[in-house]
Amino acid sequence: MIELKTPAEIDRMHVTGRFVAEVLTEVGRLADVGVNLLDLEHHVRGMIARRGAESCYWDYTPSFGRGPFRNVICLSVNDAVLHGLPHDYTLRDGDVLSADLAVTIDGWAADSARTVIVGTPAEEDLRIIRATEEALEAAIAAARPGNRLGDISAAIGGVARDYGYPVNTEFGGHGIGRTMHEDLHVPNKGRAGRGLTLRPGLTLALEPWFARTTDRIVYDPDGWTIRSADGSRTAHSEHTVAITEDGPLVLTRREPEAATTASGSGQPSRATDA
Ligand code: MG
Ligand code: MG
Repeated sequence: MIELKTPAEIDRMHVTGRFVAEVLTEVGRLADVGVNLLDLEHHVRGMIARRGAESCYWDYTPSFGRGPFRNVICLSVNDAVLHGLPHDYTLRDGDVLSADLAVTIDGWAADSARTVIVGTPAEEDLRIIRATEEALEAAIAAARPGNRLGDISAAIGGVARDYGYPVNTEFGGHGIGRTMHEDLHVPNKGRAGRGLTLRPGLTLALEPWFARTTDRIVYDPDGWTIRSADGSRTAHSEHTVAITEDGPLVLTRREPEAATTASGSGQPSRATDA
């Protein structure tokens, strides 16, 4: 069942979305050569606890994972793109880091992801990140009343095609609201003019992700981390978006949004386990 949200409910999701944006801004600031993924995980745990938010990932046990998940953020490096399990890995110069975060505050969820480069960027890594960011903006622009769900998928797929990246359709966007995953799957390619008619009150997580040279994926033995099947590098960009009478409203927008190269100016503090 698809639940349309009232403007007041969207406002509450926006509160959560602003916090998710703040955390991902901080992750981009902290990600640096020599930083361990577990330090980032613990730093985010601290932010979530101090805000009184609740992780959507902790204890998450979907059919595909080797659950339950016992981390609060997904950190995927290089050929890893989705559901990256934070582990004892120290970031190296040129690594591509995707960070994906979903939390609830007072019962309302928001979900967002960004990809940054640690240290010296390679041009082809900047390019694939830019492609997912452009695809996300195209998807957001299509998320308006009267359009169809297929218009969003086609917008994402069109950007991928222009860049020459293949598109996997096993994992894509989704409805979101009281929980991280609500009804509606939003494939990252599709036919314009097809599917559900978009209405004010629909809230969607839109999340283009691409690998450079494959649309196939493989799972790590940890049962969570998803990589490109051929080891090619990847990127992932996601926002939670509300469709309103006035058009799309991005609930997880970071200010400023740009900077795919991690600034790496901060030092994460290693907190104790939550
Ligand atoms: Mg996400
Ligand atoms: Mg999502």
